[in-house]
Amino acid sequence: MKYISTRGQAPALGFEDTMLTGLARDGGLYVPESVPQMSTEEIAALAGLSYEETAFRVMRPFVGDTFAEDEFRAIIARAYAGFGHAARAPLVQLAPNHFLLELFHGPTLAFKDFAMQLIGQLFQAALARRGERVTIVGATSGDTGSAAIEAFRGLDNVDVFILFPHGRVSEVQRRQMTTPSEANVHALAVEGDFDDCQAALKAMFADDAFRDHVRLAAVNSINWARVLAQVVYYFSSAVSLGAPQRRVSFTVPTGNFGDIFAGYIAQRMGLPVDQLVVATNQNDILHRCLGGQGYHKGPTVPSISPSMDIQVSSNFERALFDAYGRDGGAVAQLMDELKSGGFDVSQGALQFLGEVFASGRASEEETLATIAATLKDSAKLICPHSAVGVKVANAQRDPAVPMITLATAHPAKFPDAVERATGVHPPLPPRMADLYERSERVTRIANDLTAIQDHIRGHIAA
Ligand SMILES: *Cc1c(COP(=O)(O)O)cnc(C)c1O
Repeated sequence: MKYISTRGQAPALGFEDTMLTGLARDGGLYVPESVPQMSTEEIAALAGLSYEETAFRVMRPFVGDTFAEDEFRAIIARAYAGFGHAARAPLVQLAPNHFLLELFHGPTLAFKDFAMQLIGQLFQAALARRGERVTIVGATSGDTGSAAIEAFRGLDNVDVFILFPHGRVSEVQRRQMTTPSEANVHALAVEGDFDDCQAALKAMFADDAFRDHVRLAAVNSINWARVLAQVVYYFSSAVSLGAPQRRVSFTVPTGNFGDIFAGYIAQRMGLPVDQLVVATNQNDILHRCLGGQGYHKGPTVPSISPSMDIQVSSNFERALFDAYGRDGGAVAQLMDELKSGGFDVSQGALQFLGEVFASGRASEEETLATIAATLKDSAKLICPHSAVGVKVANAQRDPAVPMITLATAHPAKFPDAVERATGVHPPLPPRMADLYERSERVTRIANDLTAIQDHIRGHIAA
């Protein structure tokens, strides 16, 4: 299995190099050269399997012979062993023919654990074999950083440094980053905002001497291995509801388009998906684009679903690549136009996207009202991101087709919004109840590239 860049100018790579590289050298994103198919019989045979075995069968064709079968099975087993639910991604019912896929039973209570836990184990296995070490540096507004720290803590071949904006992440998010005690974990509270953290990260990747010296690696959401890990729960949930004999639909609360793109890959592999609905909050560039208004940046407006507050949705480039007939030159040109504000989507590409994706948006008021209504009508507390999904799903769904809405975070991760909507303070799961008592370890650092680079150089294991 080879992976090619969406901008057509980088060398094709195998799975392992695609994963370790992250971003392609031409600035593009890696996608599989062709999407492997699962037959109706193979999908039907997933019924009743463990999440881990489903993951093995769904991901195996993409991974090829990078790992021996037994080793890949062991990697998957280690990745999901720390989840707090035997089903890993359980389905619960909200209403007749409307289901919630709970993706928040991992160690940091958000769906990013599904991909990050797997990528931690994949990196460890690949690096140990190569006898190499890397330094992972990430910038986060909250969820990605905590998921990365949980995934890489205590691993032998990796140091992980996470930059987060001092004073601007929730207390649960901060504590998840500052309480792990392993020596290879480094939480850096930058005196700046999230954009400052991202700018510092970008500058470090552009500094070749630094990059080579610390052997910098990235695990942000454009990494193909992260998308791949998320394909699995589309299969596991659909099969639970009767696929492939019965079609199902999905609604996905979307920011960087990674999670919904995984649903698109599942469909391309042969999973019978009826609707694939993109749900955005008030930062609705994707909803506007899919509605034919072009892809034009606006200001990012902070919302109560902060993990979806994006201006540019990086994984959308992968969908555009297919919509433009896999013409890397055309995608490169669009991305060039994006630097100066945005671009219009061609009629042909818009038609392609419209056949695959539906979309909707939820305002702040609608999100709060949906959290309240879901508690009243279905006795479930949901987080604001999941509520955006539920609101959009209710507006779009065909009552005759089962709708699966992805619940992307645990309500206790965003307690203020949930309490504002319902008057109920959502408790942390018992296995995490002592989070507020654990001691914290964090380095406060100036918003200064040299200071950050010096700190990293001085704290990597030799
Ligand atoms: C990251 C995140 C999202 C958005 O996911 P994308 O893959 O970026 O679309 C939604 N909800 C939560 C809780 C998240 O952490």
